[in-house]
Amino acid sequence: MHRASESVELEAAILGKNDKLAAENRGWLKAKNILALNLVSSPGSGKTTLLERTLTDLKDKIPMAVIEGDQETLNDAERIRATGTACVQVNTGTGCHLEADMVQKGMEQLDPQENSLLLIENVGNLVCPALFDLGERAKVAILSVTEGADKPAKYPHMIAASDILVINKIDLLPYVTFDVDAAIQAARDINPAIKVFQVSATNGEGLDVWYDWLLAEIGVSGTIQAAE
Ligand code: MG
Ligand code: ZN
Repeated sequence: MHRASESVELEAAILGKNDKLAAENRGWLKAKNILALNLVSSPGSGKTTLLERTLTDLKDKIPMAVIEGDQETLNDAERIRATGTACVQVNTGTGCHLEADMVQKGMEQLDPQENSLLLIENVGNLVCPALFDLGERAKVAILSVTEGADKPAKYPHMIAASDILVINKIDLLPYVTFDVDAAIQAARDINPAIKVFQVSATNGEGLDVWYDWLLAEIGVSGTIQAAE
């Protein structure tokens, strides 16, 4: 019993310190009107592909920067830099999520511009990233149609913590049994206000709606067409 309560206290202390740093990040981002999004998902949902595509299609419209979180490798950061976007890689080692201090250090290095978009790719994991506020404006949960449509029900804390659900790889719907309506319903049962986008980061379907939302959030108007 004693040890269990010590571990609960330790967890509360870690989260308390994280929340303080996250609040600093949020204040700094708000003062510069930077839209910071925290992208969370299982491994393989297509987060990096969605980022690459978004960075390529919006690069003449708004300034953007990326913080890449992965346990190991620089692969994703290299893919992001190939689009011409400034990117900082955070390798968490054994850590399974990003924390606010990592994002703070990443922002110090990137020094993102005012009225810009800061995309934070979290470690592929639907569990503990739900607990760690990074100071983002919204968590964006990404679910691909090659996964189970019951994922929202299995990871309710992440769905509850997210403002946005992106259903990715919709170009593959003819080949899989994924039930889009059931997945959306499962998410809305947990978080009725969650905003849903259905996209294919590979063929561009649905991305115009995603881009319009991003630009509107930053306060830039104009419709962007996804490149073919
Ligand atoms: Mg990735
Ligand atoms: Zn973790």
